[in-house]
Amino acid sequence: MKNKLLFLGPPGAGKGTQATLFCKKYGLDHLSTGDLLRDEVSSGSLLGLKAAEIMNRGELVSDELVLSIVELRLLKINKGWLLDGFPRNIYQADALKKLLQKINQPLESVISLKIADDYLIKRLLARGREDDNEDVIINRLKIYREKTAPLIDLYSKEGILESIDGNADIDVVFSCIEKALG
Ligand code: ADP
Repeated sequence: MKNKLLFLGPPGAGKGTQATLFCKKYGLDHLSTGDLLRDEVSSGSLLGLKAAEIMNRGELVSDELVLSIVELRLLKINKGWLLDGFPRNIYQADALKKLLQKINQPLESVISLKIADDYLIKRLLARGREDDNEDVIINRLKIYREKTAPLIDLYSKEGILESIDGNADIDVVFSCIEKALG
């Protein structure tokens, strides 16, 4: 099973759910930038306060902050890993590539979870996180389309992209992912 992975998909596609299940079953380190940023927010640090304001508008926090968080974690990992929520734009993808070259652990596979917008909005509204109200969701989807979706093309050209239909039961999606990575 491949173990240097990236899960890509719009907010609400089920990345976090699938990533958590996958990492538990296969013993990988789950690196979710959203979770790491929310930890920073809960800690009450100045950095966290600044990040919270940006996250609650549905914007992306600075590349610099996210990169420093990811780099610190990746440099400490000595097993497989799964990136969830990072990279979110081309700049972050380039930075990731350089970082992975430095630690000699190239990305093995990218799972792209596909799902229609109206399902996404329904799922996110049901989840009800602080940044899950309708206006903010619409902004997050817009930013996803503009900034993050181009990464699908990039990884497809590298020949490491696997597209998965995210519009099915959790266990069905999970077995599709396992099959794609096996
Ligand atoms: P979702 O899966 O619903 O998109 P996440 O938990 O991944 O939510 O991220 C929540 C918020 O955290 C994003 O809307 C953004 O503000 C911030 N964030 C997470 N990852 C990144 C990143 N790689 N670059 C910039 N901002 C990020």
